[in-house]
Parts: sequence; structure tokens; C-alpha cells
Amino acid sequence: MSRITLLANARLADDSLVDISIGAEGPTTDGEPSTAVLDIVQAGGSGSGQLAADRQMTDVRDMAGYVVLPRLREPHAHLDKALSADEVDNPTGDLGGAIRAWLDHRISITHDDYVQRALAAVDLYERNGVRLLRSHVDLGSDVGSRGLEALLEVKEKVAERVHIQLVGLPVGLSGENADNVIAVCRRALDLGLDMMGGVPHIEDDPARAIDVILDLAGSHGRGVDIHADENLHPDSSDLATLAGAIIRTGFEYPATASHCVALSMKSPEDQTHVAALAAEAQVTVVALPHTNLFLQARDHASAPPRGLAPVAALAELGVTVQAGGDNLQDPFNPLGSGDPLETAALMVLAGHVTVIDAVAMVSATGRPIPGKGDRAELMAIPGRSVREVMATRPAERLLLKFDV
Ligand SMILES: [Zn+2]
Repeated sequence: MSRITLLANARLADDSLVDISIGAEGPTTDGEPSTAVLDIVQAGGSGSGQLAADRQMTDVRDMAGYVVLPRLREPHAHLDKALSADEVDNPTGDLGGAIRAWLDHRISITHDDYVQRALAAVDLYERNGVRLLRSHVDLGSDVGSRGLEALLEVKEKVAERVHIQLVGLPVGLSGENADNVIAVCRRALDLGLDMMGGVPHIEDDPARAIDVILDLAGSHGRGVDIHADENLHPDSSDLATLAGAIIRTGFEYPATASHCVALSMKSPEDQTHVAALAAEAQVTVVALPHTNLFLQARDHASAPPRGLAPVAALAELGVTVQAGGDNLQDPFNPLGSGDPLETAALMVLAGHVTVIDAVAMVSATGRPIPGKGDRAELMAIPGRSVREVMATRPAERLLLKFDV
């Protein structure tokens, strides 16, 4: 392995001060191309200059004054809806109002409008450090897969900068029109959808919808990511139903449940029971503070619930929890900056997780600090600590990508 670059005096999220060396690894005997990977040593000691000389580095960058993080992940976006808030109002401010307003509007969206808004949103996410982005996209018998076709174009256009995964979002998988909606989903999977999703809690038959989602995804070799329990009813059970169906059917692809708001309304014993099921089924949960805080609990005059997935109860049982921004300036959330560090800050303030755990929830690697052997994709933000960086969220973000 030959060394080529050193990032000296980099502050990591755990407050350690390190030198990060970046070098080439490969090509491997099985034909994998060379990749740039990291090595990390404590800063100081023999001195960065000596370390650079020892390892024959040609490029030393002093990162003093910067916090260095892994690139970030946006695990739940809606690129087809993004940046539409000035065109589509949500008169009631709740989830039902947002859905009604969007269904009225979406039929009139042109291909160019989808593409332009999605590209603008991706630019915003990338400037903030996002490398991996998962976006849901509407599928329906009214709009077919028009949004998907536009987002596939966007995905290809930005592939070098941001890796996008697209999840189908149909409604009506268990109702009268189910056959038509399922046909749209099959076409979408053939077109290149990465995962299958849905919204069981607004379906006529949530359990039936979950079975259909798993069947559609499994038959195409894809994973699932559903909008689960996005309400405050303690008896809402999408996450438990999904986990149970995965265990029952032996579904073997990745599974994610986004929102899981209702879980926070269950008793501690019931939360533990559902979390154990989710852990057994290896379902990742994505908490979505922006949209849930905006849409939920508007009918509670006193002490409104926060409407956030109970992170501690899930993590305690070993469930992986990520955090996402969800809607970006659309009728479901008129605000949002496309910044995972804003999401992480909300997880600290409203979800009561620690700063470093919140960083892990939005990190592209799932870890708050870069690790030896990671791909050499980092970001550096001016600040003295990750806490300060999360508090002030400077616009300056150096995206450090090293190729070999
Ligand atoms: Zn969503």
C-alpha cells in the first residue's frame, strides 16, 4: 500500500486529534479496482511532518480548526415532492391535509418540474455533505411511474456525486383498485426501482398491504422500506406486522421501517416486545423528526406528544436506528434545509440521544468517526468540536474524496 495524502491534526467526533493517512489499496487479485482507504493515527508524537516523510507522502493538508466526519447519509427523502412548498399549501397542517393537497397537485407535475426540483434538492443535500441518499417516489394508478422515470434520470446524472436509492411509494395495495396499483409497481420494479415501499397505516388492510410489498420486493430480489405507524395510535402495529411477516416468510432482503411514531405511544413493555421482533427480523428503523414534529399531535391541546420513534427502546434491543430529514419544503414539511446535521440536532433536542449517537444516525458509514479501511470519503467543517459544529452548522463544508 503506497501512501499519498495526510490530513494532519483532524478533530474527530469523539474529540480525538488525529492524522488521517489516505493511500491506495488494490487492485485485488479478483479484479476489484484500486480504492483509496484510510488509516488513522494519533496526532503529534513523531510529528505530522515526520510521519509524512516516513510514509513517503506527497500531500499534507493541515486540518487544524476543522472537525472531520464521514460523509453523511439522508436515509429518507422525497425528491419528487421536494421544494414544492410555494406551489402546494397544506391548509390543515396535518398528515391528512398534506396527503390530500399532494394528491390534488401531483397529477399536474411535468417531467421537467420533477427533474429540476430533484436536481436542486440533490445539490442542497450534497453541499451539506450527503453521499448516500434514499428517496421514496410516488407510484399510483393516476400518475403511474412518471416520478420514477424522472428520478431515474436524476440518479444517473448525479451518480458520481451522490448515490441515490429509489423506493416505490404506492397507496392502494389492498383496496378496490389494488390490481391496477400492483401492476404499476411491477412496471416500476422492471424500470429500475431499488426497493419497494408503501404506507400500510392508511391502507384498507395494513397487514395485506405489507404482504403485497414483501411479495413484490422479494419476487424482484429487492429490499423494502415502508412508512410505518406514522400516527399516534398506540394500537398501530405496522412495525410488528412487518417484522412478523419477515420472520414468517423468511424474506431475505434488507428491510427498513420509517417513522414508527406510534411505537412511542405504547407501554414500555409493548415497546420492548416490538423492538425485540424488529431486532430478530433485522429491520432498521428510521426516525424522522422534522416531518413528525410538524404533522403530528395537532389535535392535542395539552402536552402534545413529540411523535418520534422511541430510539432508546429500539437501540436497547439492538435495532439499528438511523435519522432522516424526510420532506424538504413541501406540504408535508414547509421547512428543512437538506442538512443531516440539522436532523441530528433535532434528535438531540427532541429525541434525547447524545451528540455522538446522533452523528452515527446520519453518517454514511453508520459510525460517527472514520475507521481504518473505510473508503476515503470525508467531510471537514470548521469548529472546535462536533457539538459546536452541530450547534452552528457552518455552511462551509469541505468534501474530501480521494481517488487513486
Ligand atoms: Zn416519507
